[in-house]
Amino acid sequence: MKIVETVAEMQHLCRNLRTENAPLGLVPTMGALHAGHLSLVRRARSECASIAATIFVNPLQFGPNEDLAKYPRTFDEDCRQLADEGVSLLFAPTTAEMYPPGAATTISVTGIGDRLDGASRPGHFTGVATVVAKLFHIAHPHRAFFGQKDAAQLAVLRQMARDLNFDLEIIGCPIVRDADGLALSSRNKYLSPAERTEALALPRALRHIQQSIASGERQSDALIQQGMQELNRVKLDYLATVDAQTLLPVSTIQPGTLIAVAAWVGQTRLIDNFLVENLPSS
Ligand code: AMP
Repeated sequence: MKIVETVAEMQHLCRNLRTENAPLGLVPTMGALHAGHLSLVRRARSECASIAATIFVNPLQFGPNEDLAKYPRTFDEDCRQLADEGVSLLFAPTTAEMYPPGAATTISVTGIGDRLDGASRPGHFTGVATVVAKLFHIAHPHRAFFGQKDAAQLAVLRQMARDLNFDLEIIGCPIVRDADGLALSSRNKYLSPAERTEALALPRALRHIQQSIASGERQSDALIQQGMQELNRVKLDYLATVDAQTLLPVSTIQPGTLIAVAAWVGQTRLIDNFLVENLPSS
């Protein structure tokens, strides 16, 4: 696996990798890799001839009081894992390489970019959209792979790709969880053993809601109330039922509804969700 730090070299190598009959897949990450990230790489490998991964802890998507400085960094181990998974190219630029002095352009996906995490983390999705647009321009992939774990991010990026006519396909990949149900996240490393146990309230709340939907409940208010019963020991940011594409609230559950939760467990902000794909007839 070749590790590249400059935009110019990455552009050059991707240009050579990308051919009509050999699709190039892109897997953007912030490193501290776990099985969730690797599932994106595997999906990319199943659909693409070559894979470029990126590791960049993007300062633009962190708020002033967020965890940029302490975000986990495990670069050598990440490289080993990506190489083992068949990644041909890893782009790991410095901040100065991505945002040279004088850089003045950002991408705001208005409306949708201010919903869910965008509401509680102002500017977050502008940071995400800006860096992902840059990565799309640099690598020019045929397909880019993102986790459904960050469902709001996926919706914002799909909107951006549509609006700006990026000539690529965005592929959403299922959430990978630990055996006890907690969605894998680089931020799980922050949790003490007691907090790790408390964090299970998030998947429990979602499961509770999922079971109620399976039993025929369709009203968002009732479902949210039921989910809330599981969340009284964490500091809730949101528990919401929204349209997965627009992130606008829905009052009646239907296929394409996203049930999303965000909460702080101690100092750590965690998110989780599930997508209603089809409804059992009631
Ligand atoms: P991050 O490094 O947190 O920016 O995540 C990089 C990519 O991995 C994003 O597309 C995430 O949605 C995806 N990802 C993170 N955690 C998981 C997970 N548990 N399951 C599937 N994808 C994930």
